Amino acid sequence: MTAQDDVLRRVNRNGVELIRVVFVNNSGVPRGRVVDSEKLRGVLEEGANVTEAMQSFNALDRLVSGGRYGPAGEVRVVPDPETFTVLPYADRAAVMLADLHDLGGSPWAAGPRARLRDYLDDIGDDGYVPHLAFESEFYYTRESDEGETVPYDDTTCFAADGMQRAHDLILETVDALKAQGMGLSTYYPEYGPGQQELVVDHDAGVAASDNQILFKQTVKAVADAHDVGATFRPTPFSDLPGNGCHIHLSLWQDGENVLYDSAATSRYPLSEEGRHFVGGLLEHAPALVALTAPTVESYNRLQPGMWASAYTCWGHDNREAMVRIPSADADDPAATTRVEFKPSDNTNNPYLAQLGLLAAGFDGIERELDPGEPLNRDPDTVEDDDRSALGIERLPDSLDAALDALEADAALAAALGEPLHQSYLEVKRSEWEQSTDDGEWETEYLNRSF
Ligand code: GLU
Ligand code: MG
Repeated sequence: MTAQDDVLRRVNRNGVELIRVVFVNNSGVPRGRVVDSEKLRGVLEEGANVTEAMQSFNALDRLVSGGRYGPAGEVRVVPDPETFTVLPYADRAAVMLADLHDLGGSPWAAGPRARLRDYLDDIGDDGYVPHLAFESEFYYTRESDEGETVPYDDTTCFAADGMQRAHDLILETVDALKAQGMGLSTYYPEYGPGQQELVVDHDAGVAASDNQILFKQTVKAVADAHDVGATFRPTPFSDLPGNGCHIHLSLWQDGENVLYDSAATSRYPLSEEGRHFVGGLLEHAPALVALTAPTVESYNRLQPGMWASAYTCWGHDNREAMVRIPSADADDPAATTRVEFKPSDNTNNPYLAQLGLLAAGFDGIERELDPGEPLNRDPDTVEDDDRSALGIERLPDSLDAALDALEADAALAAALGEPLHQSYLEVKRSEWEQSTDDGEWETEYLNRSF
């Protein structure tokens, strides 16, 4: 039986009527088409139509004026049969993640998911497989008597009371995640009142990014069914902790985690290859954050004291470092040695975030970049001169500055390819320009899109 036949069989067996075919464009917002089950065979074969302009569309649903893609030109949204998932939170509905193809049937060069798949195939030729987990934070919200959006509760950091207040929502969310094949790695009420951290188990390559999309949709759908708000914005409340989406990454080759040094005796057994990978992340950090922290508001979060990281440094269990090496589990260091990349939030396109991390890390491996010694204190408390001597720099303090770095970064430009690199820059620059023209814009679009 082909993968397509298998999908059709599962559609029938589960009484699915409507299938959401979802992709994520440069704006980071999941979008797509809904297909009737009777028309699904054709869409599995040929894809559904969509305008090319989707890749010049920003998060406020505005087309970049004079952008690379406009009203003329068509691509196909082609669902990946591997991703067929019955939705536990929507009646007789399923979802499939999709790639964008050109009309000739080949992956479209400006399509983020297909570009990541190509990159993974390339490193896969050398036996490499990355595993990632997206450590998402979000706030549950409610409307106050005055009609303001406020945090859902007033509980404190990691509080047992917070677990109880959000229990029904979290339980239903976890059930729904499991029904979609995602396991719960970690959950707890985070620092902010009403803020949650819920992490799905790590997965390989594209599947990890697919999961991040399914995860966010699930959190929002369950909250919505309870008339509770859920926001993944980087800083929804200016006086409260931000929402990060740190990315945990390990790198496997022929069944071995190449970030792990089996001869090391410390709780941070990072291999030489792992150190080079970190060196690459540090080297490309200013450009990389344009992909991982890609909205205007992202830079309110990348400030000292936010535990989100603000400087290009790495450290052992250092939560103010851009790259944290978490202490490996004593009983299984080989499987748990990893890098945690902190300047990342939930407004990113998870395919592009993953592609950027891999391109930066592999550049570090190829060039044997030395990350220097790990910094095991808050970089903001290091004297300016000492910081400079250590090669530690402030991360870009605005989306604008990060985009300039991404434009100039040859390794990331090559990984993205020209159509994706240029269209991404255009879309994100249009968001920056609109936010500076109209102060309300930022808030409005973030509430609607994330
Ligand atoms: N909320 C912090 C951030 O925005 C992360 C806190 C933590 O999990 O260490 O990245
Ligand atoms: Mg956290």
